[in-house]
Amino acid sequence: MEREHLEMFREILLKEKNKILNKATKKRSRNKGMKQVTELFSERTSDLIDIAREVSTLEMGLSLEEYVADHLAEIDEALAKIDRGTYGICEECGKPISLERLEILPTATKCVECKKKAEQQSMKRSSKEVMFFHPEEDAE
Ligand SMILES: [Zn+2]
Repeated sequence: MEREHLEMFREILLKEKNKILNKATKKRSRNKGMKQVTELFSERTSDLIDIAREVSTLEMGLSLEEYVADHLAEIDEALAKIDRGTYGICEECGKPISLERLEILPTATKCVECKKKAEQQSMKRSSKEVMFFHPEEDAE
């Protein structure tokens, strides 16, 4: 891949990373603030509803944080690949991944063909297992 494209994707990935990190930090400090508020008014019945609401938000926030951690790992991997000079190369066939695909998904690790093949294989796997089972052939 050309140097200018690599720098462009590095910028996109770094921006995305900062965006996620900013969001995560903001969310954390807001949750902290809300917790203090709910602690302060915890004796009032009407606030129990708010506390319940806040707890469910926190639960949702946890799974969101897991997603964020996954996404951050993908971005870091892509950034490491830019440094190693292997960014934009398919992990399966070693051919370059199209720029159009990387623009849509800068963390893509496989080209469209290999991605499709992998998806088809995982779909076929279950039916193949059934097809391979031919007990009548072994009966002599
Ligand atoms: Zn490929």
